[in-house]
Amino acid sequence: MFRSFRDFFSMIRTALIGMGVTLRNLFRPAITIQYPDEQLDVPLGYRGIPVLLSDDEGNLKCVSCELCAKACPVNCIEIQAHRDNQTRKKVLDVYNLDSTWCMYCGLCVEACPFDALAMSDQFELASYDLPSLVYTKEQLAEIGRRAVTPVVNIRETQNFGIKTRGGGRR
Ligand code: SF4
Ligand code: SF4
Repeated sequence: MFRSFRDFFSMIRTALIGMGVTLRNLFRPAITIQYPDEQLDVPLGYRGIPVLLSDDEGNLKCVSCELCAKACPVNCIEIQAHRDNQTRKKVLDVYNLDSTWCMYCGLCVEACPFDALAMSDQFELASYDLPSLVYTKEQLAEIGRRAVTPVVNIRETQNFGIKTRGGGRR
């Protein structure tokens, strides 16, 4: 008998707590946004697709060392390069990143010794067309160059070294 009274009051108390939470939130401003017409800033530390960075002249910083591809645990980066006969420097021919495999771990960015790669704030990557989800060198460079999509290299941040500075919008 005593136990059933205790259970009864516990049930009432739990229900009142739940209703209190409901009441408190009933009068708060709605936080639902009408995506995609409305978009929130990407939070600090968000890891979107890795992108290739360029220098001030617009040239890719990548030197085709392939360290990023070796660091990638799922082998989703393909790099092809040739050596320039005159400068003896490697020239990047192909840099493909298969975003269907990428798990956005950021290891490739950490491995890059030339700050040529960074996690971006690109998250709208859904597509019904699988081949289009393999990003080419040109596409990755274009995303990396967008002034409105600032990217910060992993070692320049303190936030687990991931891309920071939200607010970029396409
Ligand atoms: S973020 Fe991770 S999974 Fe994606 S390309 Fe870089 S190392 Fe590979
Ligand atoms: S580690 Fe950096 S420099 Fe080397 S291939 Fe990858 S992006 Fe290019």
